[in-house]
Amino acid sequence: MNFNYNALPSRVIFGVGRRKEVKTELERLGIERALVLSTADQSATGAEFAAMIGDRVGAIYPGAVMHTPIAVTESAIHQMEQMNCDGILSVGGGSTIGLGKAIAYRTGLPQLVVPTTYAGSEMTPILGQTDKGLKTTLRSAKVLPETVIYDPELTLTLPDFITGPSGMNAIAHAVEALYAEDANPIISMMAEASIKALGTALPVLIRDGSDMVARETAAYGAWLAGACLGSVGMAIHHKICHTLGGTFDLNHADVHCLLIPYSAAHNAEAAPEAMAAISRALGGQEAAAGLYELMQLVGRKKSLEDMGLSEADLDKAANLAVQNPYYNPRPVTLEGVREMLQAAFEGRQP
Ligand code: NAD
Repeated sequence: MNFNYNALPSRVIFGVGRRKEVKTELERLGIERALVLSTADQSATGAEFAAMIGDRVGAIYPGAVMHTPIAVTESAIHQMEQMNCDGILSVGGGSTIGLGKAIAYRTGLPQLVVPTTYAGSEMTPILGQTDKGLKTTLRSAKVLPETVIYDPELTLTLPDFITGPSGMNAIAHAVEALYAEDANPIISMMAEASIKALGTALPVLIRDGSDMVARETAAYGAWLAGACLGSVGMAIHHKICHTLGGTFDLNHADVHCLLIPYSAAHNAEAAPEAMAAISRALGGQEAAAGLYELMQLVGRKKSLEDMGLSEADLDKAANLAVQNPYYNPRPVTLEGVREMLQAAFEGRQP
């Protein structure tokens, strides 16, 4: 064995109903006037949290949107400064959490995050933001939230077309953590447990989104996946998803969900130990086949053609995806990536 392991400092509170501890946790962080963030869609949830924290509300900003545009961050900071806020309470998915991180990056203020999807951003020191349509990503300890409260009850309102893809987005973090350049035994343990939890919970949730045990299991898997994403580097799958998402404006979770079986198949020969772990987590099925079956069951879009791409777009995407490639266990080539995109375009079993 030969590895590096860096533990990330964050406090995690997990359990059904534990959102009620939000005020105590703000106190623990020394936040007296919180800026409460949500999307417009989740403004009612934001208002519920504002009511729970009572005199610790500094301002409410229900304006988070996808891709963390800098203009939105600046407008939230303006409101925050006017109201003298001294900390951030983000309630929502990756978009809301992204806004909180962007504010923390610029102001150094502490963050309490209550995630309501399975995207995992709350556990990472990574911030993606867009300026005039251009997305850039940075890594900084300043953006890692200090405290995270996972309350699976908050995910009960997720419709199945978000539950499935968002859960597969989390699985994609865990899959790539298993064959990361800086993979290590602790994170690999978490990754395998994450795939097992989500692989068990997602099919149940697609049948019955109100199954509380499955909601709890999925949130647990998403936490582990977020920790994987925060700790080790990602590979070809994340590179392709960012390229496709950014260039063709495709939904983040849908792209991850569709492509992860193809990414696993692409790397299968080069990463046999990772494949064995995925296979164990999925109950013994071969890794790519198991992921494909899960994607077919819980995904919203079953091919790149379904997402509106044309075959000509595949050439463009493949060319972009091989520029400045991330580490990948199988050497990244234009032909290899193009082949993988073709299979995903047709939606055939990888
Ligand atoms: P999202 O935050 O955009 O949420 C999707 C939609 O679901 C929104 O309309 C939201 O209001 C709604 N929603 C969220 N929770 C809900 C709930 N419980 N019930 C009903 N509706 C709910 O989507 P996402 O997939 O969570 O996040 C995607 C974004 O996060 C992308 O921009 C991605 O780049 C980013 N991300 C960043 C990291 C990181 O480490 N920096 C990690 C993962 C994702």
